[in-house]
Amino acid sequence: MNPVVVQKYGGSSVATTEKIARIAEKIKRRVDQGARLAVVVSAMGDTTDYLLELAEQIGSQERGPELDLLLSTGEIVSASLMAMALNRIGVPARAFTGREAGIITDTTHTKARIRRLQTGRIKAVLREGSVAVITGFQGVAAGDRVTTLGRGGSDLSAVALAKGLKAGCCEIYTDVPGIFTADPRVEPESRLIPRLSYEEALEMAAAGAAVMQARAVEFGQKYRVPILVKSTFEEGNGTMITRVNHRRRSGSNLEEPLVSAVTGSGQEAKVSIFGVPDRPGLAARIFSSVAAANINVDMIIQNVSKDGRTDLSFTIPADELKRAREIASQVAAEIGAAGTAFDSDIGKVAIIGIGMQSHPGVAARMFSALGREGINIEMISTSEIKISCVVRKSDLVRAVRVLHAEFGLSRKPA
Ligand code: ASP
Ligand code: MG
Repeated sequence: MNPVVVQKYGGSSVATTEKIARIAEKIKRRVDQGARLAVVVSAMGDTTDYLLELAEQIGSQERGPELDLLLSTGEIVSASLMAMALNRIGVPARAFTGREAGIITDTTHTKARIRRLQTGRIKAVLREGSVAVITGFQGVAAGDRVTTLGRGGSDLSAVALAKGLKAGCCEIYTDVPGIFTADPRVEPESRLIPRLSYEEALEMAAAGAAVMQARAVEFGQKYRVPILVKSTFEEGNGTMITRVNHRRRSGSNLEEPLVSAVTGSGQEAKVSIFGVPDRPGLAARIFSSVAAANINVDMIIQNVSKDGRTDLSFTIPADELKRAREIASQVAAEIGAAGTAFDSDIGKVAIIGIGMQSHPGVAARMFSALGREGINIEMISTSEIKISCVVRKSDLVRAVRVLHAEFGLSRKPA
């Protein structure tokens, strides 16, 4: 039997019934070639934002089972329509919710983690020669409540199903031709990256390159699911995300770029707590409170302490600022800190590349390039394959473009 392929279509790809019908035609061609397909869909267009907006209009702050049930309806609409569009053109198809597809999660509503996959039902449908259309973004927790997997979570549904169905590849279809060396709207000189390691794709997603959900890439890396990101309606090879081959890792490839991509994100905010008593356990206290609220902390800076007190700053996703503000103010009071400050006018620029592991001096080059442009660096953090800097939000675009040119990523003259 032919291997199973999992395809995922993003919200913009299924934004209208016309687009859904076009995708159905595309799926039909693949099925006619003998492919066995499981198709994961996102909600149509901005449906999820609209549903969140409705909850807000009600005045609800809940992030529990009712919100998840509401959010899950978006994908139910698109999956049902997709299966109907396929059936109409003679492709046998059946639509399934996350629950019916056997995506079992924990109970962390709005950010649930997948615990188990019970794919028997989907496998049976594929075996009988039908296309299985599955709602992205949702699962079911023990206790039987519907959960969602975090914004952009349809990617995770797709990669997880690819693992569960032992698919040869997980194809992620979107409104761009693949993953670029920088956001093409910011840097017109950016180029498509044909191949990318999981590590790089993960760092890019975490750095705010809005191509794929970070958790989905992480899942793919863990279970070695090859992920192909490509355009829904345009021809092209897309970007293949796979394991790094050994030649690359050993650094013996002289052509290897130092930096594979530059990312910029304006979706960050900075929280500072001043005059924190410099005692063991206080950092743990602060960050446990933040973690307990399920807020992801990215960069952390603690200053050299003076007179037994120190300042601590960290960055978080901007949309968590409201809650982080409450938590930080409360913890600051509890531990006797001097004060707090909150800043959402920051941006984060990062350079990412497996190639930098074997080359010293990349950070210095990054800082010099920013310095020459008069861009002030407020925070720095590094990993093996990424260097990120916090800058003023108003400098962000310029920072991305300067670094893109500095590391030779701009289009080669024809
Ligand atoms: N519809 C959900 C969202 O907008 C999930 C997804 O699109 O992947 O976040
Ligand atoms: Mg979406």
